[in-house]
Amino acid sequence: SESTTTHILPAVESFLARPHHHFINNEWVPSASGQTMEDVNPATRHVLTEVARGNGDDVDRAVSAARRAFRDKSWAQMPPNRRGILLWRLADLMEQHLEELAQLDSLDMGMPIRQAQYGTTPMAIDHIRYMAGWATKVEGETIPVSAGNFFNYTVRQPVGVVGAIIPWNFPLLMAVWKLGAALAVGCTVVLKPAEQSPLSVLRLAELAVEAGFPPGVINVVTGYGPEAGAALVAHPGVNKISFTGSTEVGKSIMRTAADRMARVSMELGGKSPNIICADANLKRAVSGSMLGIFMNQGEVCSAGSRIYVARSIYDQALEHMADYAKTLRVGQPLDPKTQMGPVVSDEQYQRVMRYIEIAQREGATLVAGGSDMPEAGPGFFVRPTVFAGVRDTMTIAQEEVFGPVVAVMPFDDIEEVIERANQSIYGLAAGVWTENVRTAHYLSQRLEAGTVWVNAYHVYDAAAPWGGFKESGFGREMGKQALELYTEVKDVWISLG
Ligand code: ADP
Repeated sequence: SESTTTHILPAVESFLARPHHHFINNEWVPSASGQTMEDVNPATRHVLTEVARGNGDDVDRAVSAARRAFRDKSWAQMPPNRRGILLWRLADLMEQHLEELAQLDSLDMGMPIRQAQYGTTPMAIDHIRYMAGWATKVEGETIPVSAGNFFNYTVRQPVGVVGAIIPWNFPLLMAVWKLGAALAVGCTVVLKPAEQSPLSVLRLAELAVEAGFPPGVINVVTGYGPEAGAALVAHPGVNKISFTGSTEVGKSIMRTAADRMARVSMELGGKSPNIICADANLKRAVSGSMLGIFMNQGEVCSAGSRIYVARSIYDQALEHMADYAKTLRVGQPLDPKTQMGPVVSDEQYQRVMRYIEIAQREGATLVAGGSDMPEAGPGFFVRPTVFAGVRDTMTIAQEEVFGPVVAVMPFDDIEEVIERANQSIYGLAAGVWTENVRTAHYLSQRLEAGTVWVNAYHVYDAAAPWGGFKESGFGREMGKQALELYTEVKDVWISLG
């Protein structure tokens, strides 16, 4: 309801009123074409603000700035501890402006303010601090070669200019996952945020100047994927593309990158299985699994969108899930009581509705939701939706919806559910609910997924590696593994003869 909606902070109002140009060489630069694009608030369908619409010319400027900065001694010769200090300062500034950053994400793409304020924004800050610590710890090895009288050692060097392309579901966090590791190891970055949600990243760029990053180290070009994004991928001055988004776009990026052997890492889609065994703590399993699908409106690559429930507890679990979905508080994102906001855009709304329609046409049974939700507000609201009677071959069990829609299916034994869970082109995450330690470990070993959560869902930590098996991508962001994405190994031979 309007009366409980948090007011927009004055700092956010004034940010929204400023022009939103590209951020190149620590300066705000209008689009070469002079064009802008509208940024819509999904909770109201009103235009929040206009943002620069970048094309190849803007990307070219940004990449040139990043290339110069990569060689410039102010960055290239900066001692690692200074890079760490800059990152730490950025994190401190983010913390000082935490509420502002949280509101920007919430306004821009509809995530509930509580989640932004207590979940994703603090995680983004923690991530920067974690990576700040790694700046001084990117070590090589000494290798006992047998080829002769040699001293052999490795060094890890920054890969160069990184082109980072991110989606709209966690705007600030996705930016930081790429910036943190890339900057810690000494790369420079051109970041292209999603056209739906560029605001928090632009605010982050302002904070980066304040933190003291030299010009050209961090650059942001806003714009559409096929324009600004594609130009960044094709630019010969970009050494590495770090992409988070759909599997389809990821594949096309890999094809383009192949022409010049640009390094790539890919965080793509998912259709993550979430398995509730007969011996699970049912109450916890149900609420955890509902969080697993409905958190962030289901707009999460790792959403637990296929729930497999042991047949003996299936009816009971399904009933609890339907209740949960029906009582979830859907509403204005800035209202602290809101548990689920609108989906990000009209396009996404149409897409989710299409999947709901297909599921019904293919014979799935609706047990909750399945429609729009006008009483939640004028935005792109979708009712939390639960389907039963789903067969593995149905579209709803195979394709990523990226919305608040879940398929619940019964299973009879462990080997069967492993087989069915793994029958997916994706392999990002999986959930397991059981009180049996053997089952927990056995399923964790067998499931084809980059992350397995046991008796939990959607837990993340800067120190824990994150990434996919199969068509969910490759490379690991977060944890020390993330450093590998942004470094090349050089091996050095010194003759001692
Ligand atoms: P989603 O379906 O979640 O919007 P996309 O893969 O379409 O995921 O978008 C993720 C990011 O990739 C966005 O920043 C988008 O602008 C960008 N993008 C989309 N198409 C392309 C493309 N052809 N080349 C480069 N980037 C693209």
